[in-house]
Amino acid sequence: MKFNVAGIISERNGAIRTYNVDEEIKCGRRMNGSVRMLRTDRGLWVSARLDYLMHEECDRCLNDSTKRLGMSIEEEFFMVNELRLNDCGSLESINTVIDQHNILDLSQTIEHYIIINQPIQFTCSTDCKGLCSLCGTNLNQNVCKCVNEPLNTQWDDLKGII
Ligand SMILES: [Zn+2]
Ligand SMILES: [Zn+2]
Repeated sequence: MKFNVAGIISERNGAIRTYNVDEEIKCGRRMNGSVRMLRTDRGLWVSARLDYLMHEECDRCLNDSTKRLGMSIEEEFFMVNELRLNDCGSLESINTVIDQHNILDLSQTIEHYIIINQPIQFTCSTDCKGLCSLCGTNLNQNVCKCVNEPLNTQWDDLKGII
């Protein structure tokens, strides 16, 4: 997701541009939302509100499921000639750089945020009942008998004796 920022870079600090985006990035996800750029003394402050579809297997019932997830990005991008030397004497190693052709590429940052944003548990719905741990029935679609029957009946005969 590349932006030619030559225009806003030539403006004074505090200048603002807003872009609406609907674009597929390298990892194949389609990002939808808005990107706002604010001119700072060393580059641009990028604030983005994006959402995308996540297609995964539900952790509980194992069915394929699609969900829309949202993310907020807040990052400062620096112009390549504004990069400073770090304590070791080499250029700051940051991947938020506006290159010499005034291109700001947001893709890497977005991919990074997608990883951070990854839900710990992915479920098809908040009330997914999952699979029966005994017979494997998908409890969203069917009711199995395991819940109502005792787990282990081999001692039942003994009850009579006692
Ligand atoms: Zn599920
Ligand atoms: Zn069952």
